[in-house]
Amino acid sequence: MEVTYAIGIDIGGTKTAIGIVDSHGTICAKTSLPTDLTIDPHVMVSRIADAAKQLLAEQSLDERQIAGIGVGAPGPLNTKTGYIVKPPNMKAWHDFPLLNSLKRHFKLPIKFENDATAAALAEKWLGAARDAEHFIFITISTGIGAGIFSHGRLITGSTGNAGDVGHLVIDPSAGDCVCGQQGCWEFVASGTAIARQASRLLGRDITSKEVFELAQEGHADMKKLTEQAFRYIGIGCVTLINTFDPEKVVIGGGVSQVGEPLFSAVQDYVRSCALNPSGQSTPIVPAALNQDAGLIGAAALIHMTY
Ligand SMILES: [Zn+2]
Repeated sequence: MEVTYAIGIDIGGTKTAIGIVDSHGTICAKTSLPTDLTIDPHVMVSRIADAAKQLLAEQSLDERQIAGIGVGAPGPLNTKTGYIVKPPNMKAWHDFPLLNSLKRHFKLPIKFENDATAAALAEKWLGAARDAEHFIFITISTGIGAGIFSHGRLITGSTGNAGDVGHLVIDPSAGDCVCGQQGCWEFVASGTAIARQASRLLGRDITSKEVFELAQEGHADMKKLTEQAFRYIGIGCVTLINTFDPEKVVIGGGVSQVGEPLFSAVQDYVRSCALNPSGQSTPIVPAALNQDAGLIGAAALIHMTY
């Protein structure tokens, strides 16, 4: 089969990754730029386009050899209109016509989905969900998001925002989330949430990674706090398993790097609380593509049928 190429662009609140990915999923070249939120987003898009063109030149590839450009970006967004709508960490990009801005630089087909949805497609293509026709990919880092793959298809929703599970309400007594509800999943169980709760308990700033280290060393309060966070992650997983009946749940993102303690706690919770017996045995597995999931996911939007 002839090898084709796609440009993948993964836009994040702090950095943007750009790469050329072939139809086997090999990253032929990649680079990244800091996402400068102090400048006009059109200027930032020009920088991204220049970087992509530079990669093409370095690989001696012509734009005509590129099947298209896949873009993953934080939501809320609108894939119907091509707008970035309201990502909380990117205020300068609110109501920004990303697709039109990119089209000024390229004549290629462009596909655009939210970053968690694109990362789910990457796990289907090359990662932990290759064998699954029904799975949920959950990313837990500064926030919580998901990509839903069901009946062999990616569930994007009408505007590309399906899978915004970070705002499932888990514990309404836990406090105010930015979205206007109380005790959302990412408000109680994201890396940001774990760090916030621990910093309050310890009276100093601490990262979620340090919290996990202290818990593993036997620090009683940090142990209790992480166990509670893992339980909340389990609660969200049970809701998703009961709703979508997946073959597996794939968890990625910075918080998942803690590994075994999280996966065994969530697996135990699912085993005892999912409603149907087959749901109780749903495997909860780590993502396989952590480092480049965003980039590969963006390129997968071009290489994969979804
Ligand atoms: Zn919320």
